[in-house]
Amino acid sequence: MPKLNIEKLSRPILMFACVVLTAFASAPATCSDSRGSSVQPRQSFNFREGGSEIVVSIDDGSRAVPLNIILPWLQSAAHSIATYFHRFPVKSLFIHLSGEPGSDVGYSTANEEDGNPVIHIRIGETVSKEELKNDWVATHEMVHLAFPLVERQEDWVAEGMATYVEPMARLQAGNLSSQSYWREFMEMLPRGLPEKNDKGLNSVYPIKNTHSIRRMYWGGALFYFIADLQIRSQTHNQKGLQDAFAAIMNAGGNIESDWDAIHAFRVGDRAVGSDVLEKMYKQWAVGPVSVDLAQIWTKLGIHERGGQILFDDTAPLAVTRQAIEKGKLLQK
Ligand SMILES: [Zn+2]
Repeated sequence: MPKLNIEKLSRPILMFACVVLTAFASAPATCSDSRGSSVQPRQSFNFREGGSEIVVSIDDGSRAVPLNIILPWLQSAAHSIATYFHRFPVKSLFIHLSGEPGSDVGYSTANEEDGNPVIHIRIGETVSKEELKNDWVATHEMVHLAFPLVERQEDWVAEGMATYVEPMARLQAGNLSSQSYWREFMEMLPRGLPEKNDKGLNSVYPIKNTHSIRRMYWGGALFYFIADLQIRSQTHNQKGLQDAFAAIMNAGGNIESDWDAIHAFRVGDRAVGSDVLEKMYKQWAVGPVSVDLAQIWTKLGIHERGGQILFDDTAPLAVTRQAIEKGKLLQK
């Protein structure tokens, strides 16, 4: 599914202090806003993942959303993220759900608001369990928790990371097959390539058209894909981009920080004993970069035939493909 409908917003919201009920409780929580006035009750639920507390609240006007399938979806996404990063990226998280007509997961955002990491998700009131099983939005938004809030011009850095990490987090948690993972990348990464007269990725914001949106998400993902390959080549698969991302998060570079991209990349590079991210950033941010994806798929041993994704374990970089899939778990 194209990742085209997600943007981070910097809109402040009123934070609510709620009495949190246990998961699946039916009675509404008692809430008051930060000015002390009473407001309409809002339902809240909480769960824990990787030592962190995640509070889910629902608009008072959104009682029709099917929580019995939405809460497991959110729990599964949180578990995927904790699996990939080896812990949940923030100590506490508010997830705010707003119901809307339809069966889709709608416009969603991740941000830091009044000192708290907050994810807003609009969700169709008739969404099905099957739809959510294959949906990437909650996992995508939670990836944003593990990287600093960068300037708008560098949104491709954050969106590219979320686009690159989200399917891998679901794969490593057992929620996505490796065939589905590579099929999506084979189909979508070419959309991140520059076209004639395109400049570097820092020029894709402000968004001008569908192509610039695609470059923000898939151009950013392509940047990380190539960085991952280079780190793994330099370290003989002992380290990968996953190690760099974990190091950035563990050094405090999460959504509660406002580091710029170059600072985060230097932290990540140091962790893997490389300068790949900083060098690539200085090149990809300012100018168009061509990538021979067909040659990369062949070297990794990934082929698409008749709609099937086939793997060749005798390919020169087959071990690298396996290392990317297994991530840090391979080096344990
Ligand atoms: Zn995003």
